[in-house]
Order: sequence, then C-alpha cells, then structure tokens
Amino acid sequence: MLENNSTSVNTADVQTIDAEHHMHPFTNTGALNKKGARVITHAEGIYLWDSEGNKILDGMAGLWCVNMGYGRSELIEAANSQMKQLAYYNTFFQTTHAPAAQLAKEIASVTPYDLNHIFFANSGSEAIDTIIRMVRQYWAIKGKPYRNILIARENAYHGSTIGGTSLGGMGGMHKQGGPMVPNIARIRQPYWYGEAGDMTEEEFGIACAKALEDKILEVGPDNVAAFVGEPIQGAGGVIVPPANYWTEIQKVCDKYDILLAADEVICGFGRTGNWFGCETLGFKPDIMSMAKGLSSGYLPIAAVAVGDRIANAFIEHNEDFNHGFTYSGHPVAAAVAIANIQLMKKENIVEYVAKDIGPYFQKKLREAVADHPLVGHIEGIGLIAGLALVKSKDPKELFGDTVDIGMVCRDHCFNNGLIMRAVGSRMVLSPPLVISHAEADELCEKVRLCFDLTLKSVS
Ligand SMILES: *Cc1c(COP(=O)(O)O)cnc(C)c1O
Repeated sequence: MLENNSTSVNTADVQTIDAEHHMHPFTNTGALNKKGARVITHAEGIYLWDSEGNKILDGMAGLWCVNMGYGRSELIEAANSQMKQLAYYNTFFQTTHAPAAQLAKEIASVTPYDLNHIFFANSGSEAIDTIIRMVRQYWAIKGKPYRNILIARENAYHGSTIGGTSLGGMGGMHKQGGPMVPNIARIRQPYWYGEAGDMTEEEFGIACAKALEDKILEVGPDNVAAFVGEPIQGAGGVIVPPANYWTEIQKVCDKYDILLAADEVICGFGRTGNWFGCETLGFKPDIMSMAKGLSSGYLPIAAVAVGDRIANAFIEHNEDFNHGFTYSGHPVAAAVAIANIQLMKKENIVEYVAKDIGPYFQKKLREAVADHPLVGHIEGIGLIAGLALVKSKDPKELFGDTVDIGMVCRDHCFNNGLIMRAVGSRMVLSPPLVISHAEADELCEKVRLCFDLTLKSVS
C-alpha cells in the first residue's frame, strides 16, 4: 500500500495550477480557487488518501461508481494488456473487436428479461441521450413520429449533456445553458417523506402513478414515446419510492402502450442487491441505461441495454440509426468492464449485497443514527441510503434557508475522514460494494460522530 506517497505531491503547487487552469464540474470556480481544492493522491479498497496524508473512508464509492473498490489488480491488468493488444479501434463502418463483442455478451448475461441488445456510450449522460434518440426513432420507424414526448420526474438526475439536463428534473440545471430540449414533460417525484402529506406510502404510490396517467392524458396518449425514471433516485437525494410505485407506473405505461425506460446508472451492477434496480423495485423496462458501476469507474464506459421490442424494430428497419460515439465500445474500457463483471461474478458480490452486507449496513446505520435528533427519516436498500436532516422530528420541521445543514454536515465529514455527500438537507451514502462488516461499522460510527458535531455547530 502506498501509505506514504502523499509526500510526493505538494498540496499548494497542485492547488495553484488547478486554480489557474482547471474549471471544475458543478462548482463555483471563483470560490474554489480562493480556497484551494482538496488533492487526492491515491486509494486502496474503500479508502482514499489526500496530499496532507489524511486517510478518508469513501462512503460514496467515488461518484457512486467504484463498486469493486480501489486498486483491483484484475482491472488494472485488463487495461494494461488490452492497451498493448489494441488500444483503439472504432465500431462504426461494419467493424468490431473482441472486447466490444464480448462485453455486450457479458452485459447480456446479467441483464434481466429480454434486455439483450447492447449499444455503447462513454458516460451516463450519453447513454441517456441515446435513449432519448432511440425511443423517438423507434416510434418514427413504427410510423408514429409524433410520439416523441418523454415523461420524467421532478428532481430526477439523468446527466449533464443537453439531453440529460433536459430530461432530468433539476431546476438549478434548467436555469443554465437553455433553452432545453423540447417535448419533455414532467411529473412529481415519489418522495414520500418529503411530499406525501398525510398519505400512506401505498396511497402515495398510487397518487404518483395517477400523476403519470393525468400527464399522459393532458399531452395526449398518442404523443408520448416513453416514461423514464431511476429505480431509486440517486443524485436527487436517494429517494426510495413506495413499494407499489413501480408496479403502478408499469400498469399505466402498459395501458397506453408507452415505452418504459430505466436509468440504471447508479442502481445497476449490484447496488440494490440485484444486478439491476428494476429487479429489486419490481418492474420490466423496455430499455435501460448503465454506466458508473459497469467498469467500477476505472475507465469511462456506458451502455444502453435494449429489449427485443425496440431492438427488433431497428434490426428489421432497413435504414441506419444515425447515432454513436467515436469511443462507443472502446476496447480498453470494454476490457476493464469485462474484467469487472467477471470479478463481480467470481466474488458473488451481488449476493453479498443482497443477503449479507446490504442488510447489515442498513441495520447498523439505523442503530447508529435513527434516534439522532437531526435524523428525520432514513431510507435505503442494499448499499445505498439517504438520510433527511431536520430541525425537529415531530412535528416535522426543516432547517430554513439560514442554515445550509447539508453543507455543515458535509464539512464535518470531510474533516473527520469520511466522504458523505449532501443533497440539500439530505445526506447520502453509497459505499463500495466490497465494504466489509468492520468497515461498515466504522462508516456508521463516523456518520454518528459527524451528526453529533453537526448538531453541536447549529445549536
Ligand atoms: C451519474 C448519472 C448520470 C450521468 O452519468 P455521467 O457519466 O456523469 O454522464 C445519469 N443518470 C444517473 C441516474 C446518474 O446517477
């Protein structure tokens, strides 16, 4: 382990050139430049080290992606040997290579239902853009080009390209760089704790599906291409929908013959205790996007798994689909993703999340902080969890605009060797799937400590 190589990086030097030349994503660049970014130097397992020598437990698996943990030699070797063999070739022009073909097969071996046709991209956003174009083109092939409206949810995250931003439901993103892509409609999110009032979870699940039906009738059933949703909203704050939600949504889609698309970029590859979130949440998408956990974040790669209904329409239609990326099915990224899926299978990691560490983590987290004065509600499945921070539990009272409670808490986490992300007043966790029991204990203890410190600093 490279415990001491932090000395090889001078924090101030990196911060200076970073401030001079690097524009960070989702960041107030001016403010960051004054403060200086935290410099990460190396990582092993579920831990990161910064240039000041601090060891940090990565409770977010990077950005929900380093599912198999840092420093896995199987993935490093796969990249190394593929680079020597064939560093790049494209998959346009009636060409393929073994890594792309084999990865398509490997993905199809873990996708549920008939989602067996794989289109490659390089990021979750590109996969979402692919879905937008593919479902619209599907209806065009079917002689109904007017069926081009996509329905998504408030507070959904589908990436940051113009397509992903438009489809997502993040108000702060819609305000910038518009106008957005037209013919996207939105319905309420299934956030029971925050938005259901007096409704039971079941009543609320039905109300949310009713909102979809109302929207379909409003825009005209024959104008709708697809409904798109994350099985569990991630960047929106880890919102686990009511148990009946997806079954009810599926019924509405079936009734109006609307395609159902799952954005599995976070939930895919084991996070919820199945290979894909739609299996855990109980619905059958016609098409789904995946990225992050596909390569455990070691290289950028994404994919869209397409079911027979859509794929066969394209296969039978005698015309090109004019869409793709220079790096679609990039051989080195594909080789790493193959090695990642094979490693997941070899270590039975999905079963570990479903039957062992997932339930253990959920139980420990509740034992650690359910009774904490700041914690209004905890939701989560497998190795993903969201915690609502409140000023008062009963009656429920949120912190107003005067205190950014999430940021206060996140800073305490950073300062105490824990990465936990804040989404407004919600704290979210998504640790690597390889986390051990002892590490999960440590994670939950750190969460408790940071909530105590947060409470102290706002009392
Ligand atoms: C991260 C994310 C995306 C975007 O993925 P990028 O690789 O950042 O483009 C899309 N959908 C969901 C659900 C995500 O969490």
